[in-house]
Formats: sequence, structure tokens, C-alpha cells
Amino acid sequence: MDCCAHEGSGGGDARFDIHKVADGVWAAVASPAYKVNCNTAIVESSDGVMVVDTHSKPSAARVIVERLREMTKKPVRYVVNTHFHWDHWHGNEVYPAAYPDAEIVTNDITREAMVNKGLKRIQDHVRQVPGEIAKLRADLQAASAAQRGKLEADLKLAESYLAEVRALKPALPTIAFERTMKLYRRDREVHLLHLGRAHTEGDVFVYLPKEKVVITGDAMIGWTPYMGDGYPEEWAGTLDRLAQLDFTHIIMGHGDVTGREWLNTFRSYVHDMVEAVRQEAATGATLDEVKQRVTAKLAPRYEKPFSTYGDYRPWRTGIAANIERTFGMVS
Ligand SMILES: [Zn+2]
Repeated sequence: MDCCAHEGSGGGDARFDIHKVADGVWAAVASPAYKVNCNTAIVESSDGVMVVDTHSKPSAARVIVERLREMTKKPVRYVVNTHFHWDHWHGNEVYPAAYPDAEIVTNDITREAMVNKGLKRIQDHVRQVPGEIAKLRADLQAASAAQRGKLEADLKLAESYLAEVRALKPALPTIAFERTMKLYRRDREVHLLHLGRAHTEGDVFVYLPKEKVVITGDAMIGWTPYMGDGYPEEWAGTLDRLAQLDFTHIIMGHGDVTGREWLNTFRSYVHDMVEAVRQEAATGATLDEVKQRVTAKLAPRYEKPFSTYGDYRPWRTGIAANIERTFGMVS
């Protein structure tokens, strides 16, 4: 299979484009959506399949399972979670239900974060999403004809997400490793690595040395990074350790499959943003001043490359949040 768009079937509204990255390695790239879905990486070996990350809801993972069943008769043996965020593991339960021998794998830090923070956030969503739905309904009432289509679609996605998150049976990892886990198969070698803190405290990278492919979770994405649970000051260093590996293709947490050039741009953005915030904070500037100055300083270089997805996750909103997080940590 090379590339083809697929409507979500089986009642699922998630959409994925499946791209072949190497022999037996695919990226299921999620279309931007109001309730974001992560990408899934698919790695087929002699005895079974590994998938990396499971999206924001079970119906999205079921779309992938249906696609997998058309691609191979082999069972899914391993489901890897790159980090504890909802949009990367809420679909976990689908895999052990579809493939009874499937193991869910992550590192100790991420499993702990799922237990201590991830489970609580499921309950937060159950409480918060009704408010979001009420706001979307109110916006829809006041909307012009041109705005209605998008708001109606968003409302539908919010409602279906709420129904699924209420019924979620969170499936925690069944295997947790400390620093590194390596799988050796007849035709394949898979390294699960922790390279330091970046997007979260436990980011897992999946590295296929023979195929020269790396799967990054949200330590790299196609738009401005989310740093709300992140470590901006350590992020660039973690990406420097990533850069030392030998690879040509990067399957990110969100956005299209990319290469080393985007790693350079993404790493520079994180580094330059942190340095600029540090400099401004050292002058005693307020958060609002720092936001304004750092955005103005970085816009000429970074606004365009971080705006590939248009209005979806705009750079200026993203960098404002990044600056706020970093300012809170350096000042
Ligand atoms: Zn994330």
C-alpha cells in the first residue's frame, strides 16, 4: 500500500492517510481534527505487528485495526505509547480486545504519568467537554452562514468524543522498561529509547536502525510544539541526542512524515525561543513584554515554517503558550 485516504469506517470519524515509509513500515497520518488524533506508526515483523500510539478515542484506534486487517493477517503483538497524553493512549483498549496477546509497552516514567495524571485527566475531560459543547452550541446560534459548517462539524466531534471518553476503559501498559528496550526479530530490530525530557518527562522514541526510521511522539510535531507538560530548557538537548542516531525518515506525533531538515528547524525553534525568553526575563521584563518581544524576534524565521497547517494550531497562539511556560521556569 502506498498512499490513500480512508474515511473512518465502523462508526469512527477519525481520518488517516497511510504512507509506506520503508518495507513493512507505515505511518498512519491523522487528519487535523477538532479533537486531535495522533499519528500511528505500524511496523510489521515476521511474527506480528507493532503499532505506536492509539489516538484520542477507541473508535479512532478501531479505524486503524480495520486498515491493519486489510494489510496483514498477522496479529498486533506490541502497542507502544510514546507519552501519557490523552490523544496518544485513549484508544489502547481496542488492541487487547482485538488481539488477545497484545502487550502495551512504555517506559516506567510514562506508565507512572498515566497512572498519576492520565487517569485523572480522563475524569477532567468528562467534566469539561460538556462546557465545550455548550459553548459550541452558543457559537453556532450566533454564527454566520459561512461559519456554520465548521462549527457543526466541531460540535459533532465534541459530542462523539464525550460519549467515548465517558465509556473509556483505560488500558494501562502491561510492560514497562526503565531506559531502553530492544526487540530483535528475524527481519527487524526495534529500539525503544528514552533520550531525556522534552514534551513530557518520559518521552519514548522508537528507532528502527536498519530502516533508518525514528518515531518521535510529540517531541517533534508538524506545528508549534505543545509545552504545557514539557521541559523547554531540556528539549533541544534531547533532540540533539536524537540527532546522533542514524535515520532519514521521521514519523512524528502529529503532521506528515518528515526528515532531518525539519528536525533542525524544530530544534532551533525550541532553542531560540528558550534563549530569547531567558534574555528578556533577565532584563526584568513582564510576561506580556516578553511575549511581545520574543514573538517579534522569532517571527521572521519561524512563523512561516510552523504555519504549514494554516489556521489549525496557529503559530502565534502556540508560541505565546510556549513563552508563558518557559518564562515560568526561568524567572
Ligand atoms: Zn502530547
